Amino acid sequence: MAFCILCSHKTVSACRGELDVLECTNDDCGHISLDTEKFVYPYADKDYYDHIEKSDIVPDKPFISRRVKVITDITANKGRLAELGCGLGETAINFQRQHFEVWGVEESRNAISFLKENYPEVNWQCNNITDFLKEYREFDVITLFHVLEHVLNPKEIVGLIKERLTPGGLVLIEVPDVHGGLARLKGNKWEFWLPHHVQYFSRISLSRLMESFGFNLVYSQNMYHLGYPQGRLCRDVIHGTLANIGLNSILRTVWKNQQ
Ligand SMILES: [Zn+2]
Repeated sequence: MAFCILCSHKTVSACRGELDVLECTNDDCGHISLDTEKFVYPYADKDYYDHIEKSDIVPDKPFISRRVKVITDITANKGRLAELGCGLGETAINFQRQHFEVWGVEESRNAISFLKENYPEVNWQCNNITDFLKEYREFDVITLFHVLEHVLNPKEIVGLIKERLTPGGLVLIEVPDVHGGLARLKGNKWEFWLPHHVQYFSRISLSRLMESFGFNLVYSQNMYHLGYPQGRLCRDVIHGTLANIGLNSILRTVWKNQQ
């Protein structure tokens, strides 16, 4: 028998999309995950970013600027910020341009060597986020855009974030929302049932996880898709409105480290 990675209640097996998943039977959690004991990362021997052009990196595109504004609307403290799982670094670069002192952490060697050469103003780290969080000092803000659904042990990551955040510090977590309207509507055809997505959070299971470490929710937004807004007024208004009435695929949250 397998137990829930978040709350330790027993789980039942189910099939979602083309994946075999474990669903927590605790109504106050209901977390869904792949079986982490059997999980093998499907693209382990390949660098995700095998070819990068300078034109691939556009730090001021609307959805990147919107990510940064979420934080600057909450706090005037432009201190030390870690962008975990930073990919091609656009969000980290945008934060740096807004005068944060930024660390960008990414496992892809290709991405980090390209970024070090072209954007040396950010502290780029080729590392996995667990080792980074164990090694580094305190941060005022930590951001995880589409990272927590990939990790084997989200409790360990959130515990390390708790240790690294200053009192009153902020952590932004954006994940696919398994209880979102689009997941319910599309069922097994939901595009976020993916073999490299290990964890499937809902507002309930994410809140349970974060509150258990003493984080308070200070911001939350339902989003239609992860690239919202795109700077196309008509489409952005439609997608924003649909997400606001519950037809969302993505959940964006900001949590404050209780003092
Ligand atoms: Zn559970």
